Amino acid sequence: MKSLVQKIRSGLSRTRSSLVDGISKAITGKSRLDDDLLETIEERLIAADMGVDTAMEVIDVLRDRLNPREREELPKVFDVIKQELLERLQKMNGRAGQPELAERPHVIMVVGVNGVGKTTTIGKLAHLYKSDGKRVILGAADTFRAAAQEQLAIWAERAKVDIVRNKPGADPASVAFDTVSAAQSRGMDVAIIDTAGRLHTRSNLMEELKKIRRVIERKQPGAPHEVLLVLDATTGQNGLAQARQFHEAVQVTGIVLTKLDGTAKGGIVFAIQQELQLPVRFIGVGEQIDDLQPFEPETYVEALFA
Ligand code: GDP
Ligand code: GDP
Ligand code: MG
Repeated sequence: MKSLVQKIRSGLSRTRSSLVDGISKAITGKSRLDDDLLETIEERLIAADMGVDTAMEVIDVLRDRLNPREREELPKVFDVIKQELLERLQKMNGRAGQPELAERPHVIMVVGVNGVGKTTTIGKLAHLYKSDGKRVILGAADTFRAAAQEQLAIWAERAKVDIVRNKPGADPASVAFDTVSAAQSRGMDVAIIDTAGRLHTRSNLMEELKKIRRVIERKQPGAPHEVLLVLDATTGQNGLAQARQFHEAVQVTGIVLTKLDGTAKGGIVFAIQQELQLPVRFIGVGEQIDDLQPFEPETYVEALFA
C-alpha cells in the first residue's frame, strides 16, 4: 500500500516533471538569476496552470528576495517559490483543515458539470467519513439519468453506507428532502447529496440546484453546511469560469479537485485560490475508493517540488 504522501507524489508526477524539471534545466548552466531565466520560470509556472497573475507575482517575489548578481543565490530559487506558493495556500485554507461536523446531520451538497467526478468523489468521501467512524447517508439527487443513481448505489454498497434514491425523472429536490429527512430520523452524522451536471440546459441546471439548496435549508436550517464544487484538474483554467457560475447560484464553500493523477496542470490549485478565493478541500488522485485526500497545503507543495 502506498502512503498518502506517496500517492500525492505519484499523482503529481506529470506536473512536477513539467514544472520542476523545466526550471532545474533552465538553472543549470546559468551563472545568475537573469531576465532570461526569470522568463523561463514564469513560462513553467503558467504551463502548470497557475494563472498569469500568480506566475507574475511569484516572479516579483523572486526579484525582490534574490540578488541577481550573486551566483550563490541560484539554488535558493526553489525555496523562494515553494515558500511563496505555500503561504498563498495557507492564507486560504488556514490551519484548521477540514470543517468540523458541528451539527448532525452535517449536510454536504456536491455540484459540478457532467463527468468531473462528482459521483465518484461522493463514494470516496463516504468511505473517508465511514473510516473515521461516522454514519453516512447518500442522496441520489441526480435523477436525470437512471444510470447516475445506479452508479451512486454501487458506491454506497462499496463504502457500506445508506442511500436514498427515487425513480428516474423524479424531482431532484424531493430526493434531497428525503435524504435530509432520513438522515435526521436515522441519526446520521453526514448526508452527502449528488446532483446532476448536464451543461446543455445550463440555466435550468442552476435553477434546479438553487431549488435543491432551498429545500435542504428548509428541512434543516443551517444546512447545507458545505457545498462542494467538483472541478476536473485536466480542464485547467476552463474550470474557473464554470466555478463562478456555480458559486453564484449555490454559494460554493469549497473545491474538490479531481483527476490530478492524469495531468500536468496541478498548478491550478493556486489559480483557484487566487481567482475564486475558495479553499480546496479535497483532491482526487485516482479512481479507487481511497484515492481522495483532504487537501493539505504543505503536503501538496512538498509533493509538487519533491
Ligand atoms: P460525474 O458525472 O461528475 O458524477 O462524474 P463521475 O463520478 O461519473 O466520474 C467521471 C469519470 O471520472 C469516471 O470514469 C471516474 O472514474 C473518473 N474519475 C473521477 N475522479 C477521478 C480521479 O481523481 N482520477 C481519475 N483518474 N479519474 C477520476
Ligand atoms: P420551491 O420550489 O422553493 O417553492 O419549493 P417547493 O415547496 O415547491 O418544494 C420543492 C420540492 O421539495 C418539491 O417539489 C418536493 O419534491 C420537495 N418537498 C418539499 N416539501 C416536501 C415534503 O414535505 N416531503 C417531500 N418528500 N418532499 C418535499
Ligand atoms: Mg454523477
